[in-house]
Amino acid sequence: MHLIPEPSVVVMIGASGSGKSTLARTWPADYRLGLDSYRCAVSGDAGSQEASADAVFLLNAVLERRLSRGLTCVVDATNTRADVRKRLVEAAHAHHLAAAAVVMTAPLEQCLARNAHRPDNRRVPETVVRRQYQQISLARPGLHAEGFDHVVTDDRLLRLRLLLQRSVDGDHTEDARRALARRVFGEDLAEAFNWTQLRPGHDPVGALTVGGDDITLAYRTWSPDPMQWRFEAQVPCLGGCPGPAWVPVRSTMDLLAVYDDDFPEAAVRCECCGAGATREAV
Ligand SMILES: [Zn+2]
Repeated sequence: MHLIPEPSVVVMIGASGSGKSTLARTWPADYRLGLDSYRCAVSGDAGSQEASADAVFLLNAVLERRLSRGLTCVVDATNTRADVRKRLVEAAHAHHLAAAAVVMTAPLEQCLARNAHRPDNRRVPETVVRRQYQQISLARPGLHAEGFDHVVTDDRLLRLRLLLQRSVDGDHTEDARRALARRVFGEDLAEAFNWTQLRPGHDPVGALTVGGDDITLAYRTWSPDPMQWRFEAQVPCLGGCPGPAWVPVRSTMDLLAVYDDDFPEAAVRCECCGAGATREAV
């Protein structure tokens, strides 16, 4: 049984920092219509509020063209306003597709904390996050009445995601494991990535290898919050023991820093001698 049928229009509804984009990334890239990426497309800056009108224009144009081809769209925006949601529901129904609302359930405190940790250009004022959160709480009971054919909360979808993640982490298909590397590192780097150690009960370990250069990476799943799951790169132990020591890598920029020996020493944790940050602190 599928929670959300395809094709359909999936409308993410959540405050800034509620985990929308992380969840949206579990759908294929071409499904995802995100205001941030269209802001970036027209202005070079994903956080440029000045570019919002252009971004909305592009999102609507791509939505319309995809729906006319009967393709699923996942609208990754806060979608706090009733008139915005109404337009999306109408677009879906005009093309005889279902409209599904995915309501993010992250508590306000978590949204605020995630928002506070964002880079300057992607952070919104705290009052805005609070207002978005309140608008969504008020709208939630009325979503079916707004015309949505399906209303689901992300915690239900998270179960599905956990299952997917488990199959990625286990000894399952090469394709699924490759998809994880592609999602984090992008297409080009994923081509250079191979899992090298897949042992039951241990985090999977792989390596990015190009010519004689390589970086060893482990995928850590110890946090109860799947959004905290991440890759770590192997680096020399700061205490001078043979290691291995590890530092979190969340992006290709982090990988470059590891390659250049320019990573934050405070985040390094040695598996062998315990030098550096503790597991809890990182
Ligand atoms: Zn050590």
